[in-house]
Amino acid sequence: MTPRRVTVLGATGSIGSSTLDVLGRHPERYRVHALTAHRSREALLAQCRRHRPAVAVLDAEEDAAWLRGQLAEAGLATTEVRAGREALVEVAEAREVDTVMSAIVGAAGLLPTLAAVKAGKRVLLANKEALVMSGALFMDAVTRHGATLLPIDSEHNAIFQCLPVEHRGGLGRHGVRQLLLTASGGPFRGWSRDDLARVTPDQACAHPNWSMGRKISVDSATLMNKGLELIEACWLFEARPDQVQVVVHPQSVIHSMAAYSDGSVIAQLGNPDMRTPIAYGLAWPERIDAGVEALDLFQVARLDFEPADETAFPCLRLAREAMAAGGTAPAVLNAANEVAVEAFLAGRLGFTDIAELVARVRDERPVVPAGDLETILEADVIARRAAHAWLARQ
Ligand code: NAD
Ligand code: MG
Repeated sequence: MTPRRVTVLGATGSIGSSTLDVLGRHPERYRVHALTAHRSREALLAQCRRHRPAVAVLDAEEDAAWLRGQLAEAGLATTEVRAGREALVEVAEAREVDTVMSAIVGAAGLLPTLAAVKAGKRVLLANKEALVMSGALFMDAVTRHGATLLPIDSEHNAIFQCLPVEHRGGLGRHGVRQLLLTASGGPFRGWSRDDLARVTPDQACAHPNWSMGRKISVDSATLMNKGLELIEACWLFEARPDQVQVVVHPQSVIHSMAAYSDGSVIAQLGNPDMRTPIAYGLAWPERIDAGVEALDLFQVARLDFEPADETAFPCLRLAREAMAAGGTAPAVLNAANEVAVEAFLAGRLGFTDIAELVARVRDERPVVPAGDLETILEADVIARRAAHAWLARQ
């Protein structure tokens, strides 16, 4: 079998390193073409030593020069080291690449992910922000360029596994009544708005079931992550927002479900370990070892379900409203949220003010049709500016 060549965008992150863990278990099936990181040059060096990619990419030329020097010293100069955003796009669309893992966090992942889609690659999508920003345009590019899009977000990967292989044309056509999007509820499940006002970044990043990057950890704590996932589900599976029900399920063992018109509900279960959806995306339609322990149902013992509290966690409602508003509204929501989360992590914004800031920016920005990439990127830039201006006034 000729090994598939894989580019991992955001290799040094939580999803990126889990991806390399799975790839490393199957050297006969996969070769690493390129690894990219923003600034974490030490971590990228360690990954280059282990996986010997053809190309490594960092953001700044200064970091790239450092990595070049280190690799030369280690006798690994076969890895070409590049810097900057254009290099990210190039390793995503390179002719020799079959598969691209999109695991950069935030809007920064949009252009390289779209480049992979437009080059018709197998795209493993972890970077939900890219799809939230550019929904219709992104899905249209997948169809037009014949890309294979495999959702890696655990919930969407679960739904993908619960739907018929061919699920295009709307849920109704396939007898699906509703998608049930499970949520752990985050570290503050059951807390009141008053309690939430005082939480710290470290508390917010201590997720009960999943170990993840800091941005998505905060999003999980505010439930904005579930809001972004609701939007993501609408685009991936051609669902209307009212066809997606959020179900809080604290054990995070059921990763999501599809409810059919005959009353059947199909669920995907597993230990909360991202290597399962990553291995699924890499090998689909086959199955490979992911290094994940078998699920022990006796140890799980019980599965609980409850509705989400949208009063304490208004971000979920804000996201649903943005999806219903359409056009640039989700891109504005995402941009304002990225600025808010960064300010919260830097200690400059309270936890409950994240939703407040997102709502203020939303109220300020008109919704326009998101027909082309320029309009979306402009909505993103202007929303960030509005968010920074709001922060400056506090
Ligand atoms: P992370 O913060 O751990 O890693 C982010 C990676 O992107 C790093 O390699 C970093 O160097 C790179 N990066 C950051 N900013 C960049 C920029 N401006 N330009 C280029 N590269 C940049 O994040 P993560 O938890 O691995 O999440 C990655 C994506 O996957 C996010 O969109 C997240 O929502 C999604 N996701 C993560 C999980 C999870 O379990 N961690 C689950 C589902 C979805
Ligand atoms: Mg998820």
